[in-house]
Amino acid sequence: MKPIAILGGTFDPVHNGHLRVALEASDALSVPVRLLPAHVPPHRPPPVASPAQRVAMLRAALAGQDRVQLDTRELDRAEPSFTFDTLHQMRAEFGAQLPLILLLGADAFAGLPSWHRWRELFDLTHIAVLTRPGHSGSLPAELAAVVAVRRTESAGALHASAAGKVLDLPVTPLEISASVIRAMLARGRDPRWLVPDALLADPGLLDVYSHTR
Ligand code: ATP
Repeated sequence: MKPIAILGGTFDPVHNGHLRVALEASDALSVPVRLLPAHVPPHRPPPVASPAQRVAMLRAALAGQDRVQLDTRELDRAEPSFTFDTLHQMRAEFGAQLPLILLLGADAFAGLPSWHRWRELFDLTHIAVLTRPGHSGSLPAELAAVVAVRRTESAGALHASAAGKVLDLPVTPLEISASVIRAMLARGRDPRWLVPDALLADPGLLDVYSHTR
């Protein structure tokens, strides 16, 4: 079995920023990428769309290819979807040897020390940090100290062990965000070309956002 990369988020709704970044990570790391929609994100307000609605949008967006896949395991659980718990569950399923690669935006990575059992995440997964030109990449001291001994420059190193490395992964900067798309839809604006065409082809999929702000 191939190593697996995962990109977690609310996907409320999924948009072309998520999809393009996932595809570029899949190419750069030579792995399939799984999108993991979160049930109850620990640090955020609840999503506007229900789990079933977000899954329907993800399925529509991902149809016809298999390099970026959907993994609904967090939605299948009742408790908050701490990344630590999800990775533990994946380890139990895939075994100790399979490389797992958590994809994190540079901003999210800098905030890692606020995550549940963050130091133990490195025992469970590699981390690929999605960087953008112009972003400083500066890290809090406690994280910088942990990362200093874990950095690698090569994607191949993420295939050679199961967990523990940190790789910077440059991706095309696309300033698309789900919150801006929700605001557009609430004002009756057309989000075409910011979201995959499949979301527009099915008139029901984005309806949930037309009365929200
Ligand atoms: P919101 O605007 O509601 O905060 P979002 O667009 O950031 O939502 P999420 O579902 O929270 O979407 O994002 C899931 C993951 O995808 C996060 O790691 C986030 O950093 C990343 N991501 C989202 N949009 C982009 C983008 N345009 N480019 C790169 N990464 C992105």
